[in-house]
Amino acid sequence: MNPEQSDLWFLPLGGTGEIGMNLNLYGHDGAWLMVDCGVTFPKPGRIAADGTVHHRGEPPVQMADPAFIADRRERLAGLVITHAHEDHVGAVPYLWPLLQCPIYTSRFTAEILRRKLAEFDLLHRVPIIEVETGQSKQIGPFSVQWLALTHSIPDPNALMIRTAAGNIFHSGDWKLDEQPLVGHGYSPKTFTDLANEGVNAMVCDSTNATVSGHSVSEAALHQGLLRATRSAEGRVVVTCFGSNIARLHTLASIARETGRYMGLLGRSLINMSGAARAAGLWDSADQLINPAHLGYLPRDEVLAVATGSQGEPRTALRRLASGTHPDFELEAGDTVIFSARAIPGNEESIEALVTRLKELGVRVITAEDADLPIHASGHPAQEELELMYKWVKPAIAIPVHGEAEHMEAHADIAKATGVPRAMVGRNGDLFMIRPVPGIRRQVVETGRLGWHKEGLVRVE
Ligand SMILES: [Zn+2]
Ligand SMILES: [Zn+2]
Repeated sequence: MNPEQSDLWFLPLGGTGEIGMNLNLYGHDGAWLMVDCGVTFPKPGRIAADGTVHHRGEPPVQMADPAFIADRRERLAGLVITHAHEDHVGAVPYLWPLLQCPIYTSRFTAEILRRKLAEFDLLHRVPIIEVETGQSKQIGPFSVQWLALTHSIPDPNALMIRTAAGNIFHSGDWKLDEQPLVGHGYSPKTFTDLANEGVNAMVCDSTNATVSGHSVSEAALHQGLLRATRSAEGRVVVTCFGSNIARLHTLASIARETGRYMGLLGRSLINMSGAARAAGLWDSADQLINPAHLGYLPRDEVLAVATGSQGEPRTALRRLASGTHPDFELEAGDTVIFSARAIPGNEESIEALVTRLKELGVRVITAEDADLPIHASGHPAQEELELMYKWVKPAIAIPVHGEAEHMEAHADIAKATGVPRAMVGRNGDLFMIRPVPGIRRQVVETGRLGWHKEGLVRVE
């Protein structure tokens, strides 16, 4: 299967029909372009309440099987990473040896990627090309332009992929955030300009297509997190996703306003904040204190940010709850704030953690029971999808990054907004965009690989 000069194809190997392990291919003129290369976590149940992460002996880290493109890697022109979330970048250290192509990405994402590659001793083998937002790169027969959009991590980009056969707008993960706090914002003109040029297909995030309204801005969380912190008498521990640098930025300002010292607990938080500092995205990170000092401070002067919002074993919050964290112990009267949502499948482990905290006499505030928002999604709700379709006006909508119900809801929104055609499919389907639109079902066998005892194994 080889795309001709008149062909423009989209072929997802992961992330379409599921949320996680994104691996997308575009085909044109004898070449392929890969967009994103991420991991996922095993189903069902993901992380069990007893702390086990393995299910039926499954490897804890899983990713799309790239066999189709690995078999023809001489035709793979390059890999573009849209942003630094694990479901988009996490599989690169495992799969790059099978692909061996140059990687194009933004500065913050490159910073995160280099840290991952170093752990696998691959840093000096992988060519990484850093791209500025707004810039275009010619990658084989694809001219790829990086477009500023907002999400829940610094430096997210949408892509305009231009070829001699037609143009594709690839949204990546996004929301419309008027005040993202860290990194670049977005401009509607970027997208209305694309409509004037002509977009044959828009491949777009479906995560929250069943959610009405508009996502909450990162800036809107300040008030709720401040109120929750002000109401606390002992220590405050906030748990959130480590990659959300804007959230850390907000918490640092709340620490200043409430006379508390902020420290970070957990490897992923420390790694992400280091990358944000290296990428010039978080100047005030040097006001953080060494977490080893948190235990010696008066309790009402502590604001600790901890990993473990999903109740995962071996994370900082779980250790605090079990009294095995080296830096301090939680006591009655302390407060734990969950500034994160439960990823479906993790409800039980979170519930077990909350119960344990309450047994210690710790006050627990979750995103559900706070009276003001203390968490914001990074994905577009229905009003945002409508706006984007009105701006970009693609000929075809291709929903991705969702399960079937999210993609169906997304397709309905696209059609209701005036998009003439929506194509809903799943991993392994070939979406023919040009010259004649249509789907060929299951032309490529897809599957999952897991990382097990230092090697890749097939999971399903
Ligand atoms: Zn994602
Ligand atoms: Zn994301």
